[in-house]
Amino acid sequence: MILSNLAAKSPAKPDVLVVAKLWPPLMEALQGAFTVHDRTHESDPAAFAAIAPRIRAMSGGGESKVPASLIAQLPALEVISVFGVGYDGYDVAAIRARGIPLTNTPDVLNDDVADMGISLMLMAARKLPQADRYVRDGKWPSGPFPLVRKVSGARLGIVGLGRIGLAIARRAEGFGMRIAYTTRTPRRDIAYPYFASPALLAAEVDFLMVITPGGAATRHLINAEVLAALGTKGYLINVARGSVVDQDALIHALQTGVIAGAGLDVYADEPNVPEALRALDNVALTPHAASATWQTRKAMADLAFGNLQAHFAGKPLLTPIA
Ligand code: NDP
Repeated sequence: MILSNLAAKSPAKPDVLVVAKLWPPLMEALQGAFTVHDRTHESDPAAFAAIAPRIRAMSGGGESKVPASLIAQLPALEVISVFGVGYDGYDVAAIRARGIPLTNTPDVLNDDVADMGISLMLMAARKLPQADRYVRDGKWPSGPFPLVRKVSGARLGIVGLGRIGLAIARRAEGFGMRIAYTTRTPRRDIAYPYFASPALLAAEVDFLMVITPGGAATRHLINAEVLAALGTKGYLINVARGSVVDQDALIHALQTGVIAGAGLDVYADEPNVPEALRALDNVALTPHAASATWQTRKAMADLAFGNLQAHFAGKPLLTPIA
């Protein structure tokens, strides 16, 4: 009798739609606390139609695509948790119009993404991937590796001086770099020289580091004009989103010597990287892995899960997007 009363009172686990291939430990945590529907909207539209009215939360990744049409199919949706800091694939206007809170995982990945930005700068300028291959391929005995470009003391321009941009700047100070930046609004709390546009900044630096959000507002912010301003001795580093850089213009600039080189973690159509880019020797490439360390993925998962837990416990969200 008591047991059946308890069973009757225990609430059903809230239904959560997962819209990305999530990191397995986060998936396990979600499955423990919720009734999880893993990408059902893509894999089984008929089953999705049946469960959609019950979905109360969404869990996705930083690169997920969540259009207004998907939001419209979820009348009971109460909260969205993004495992990542970027959320440019989510239709924020549609989400806001419904008053649905959106959360992400800021700050915990600043160190890793900044480390990757600096690494790509060193990889590109010091030609570290090529130097590694030089030793492995047994070429060293036939002569020294060619001279490369010095990073310490050079001029660094940062496009987007937010949480991660500032972490990059602090590291670059350790390299004795002279730092300048561009954002839409100059930061009153920062003394680095400000430039009103990426092109104006590019003309004054040796390395241009891109770390803005993605989405329509920053699409092709780095275009042929900016690359021309960066110049034949300049390097472009992109750890933001592939959409921020006009990739075709970049490939052309790398092929024709408009700029000296590049370091890229993000691409226009991930995970597809054009052969024309992969064939170039003056670009260092990583597979959108800037925050991909065990430590940071754990911290991101704790936040992404914690936001959903907090919502369903009636507590304040840990990291709502304002
Ligand atoms: P923040 O919101 O703290 O900073 C964003 C910065 O970009 C701000 O300084 C903002 O200043 C500036 N910015 C925004 N729009 C423009 C614009 N049109 N022109 C120039 N500057 C602009 O974000 P985070 O530092 O936390 O993260 C930045 C981005 O990094 C994320 O949105 C994500 O896309 C990317 N990222 C990439 C990762 C990877 O794996 N490679 C991992 C994590 C994040 P203002 O508003 O004044 O313009």
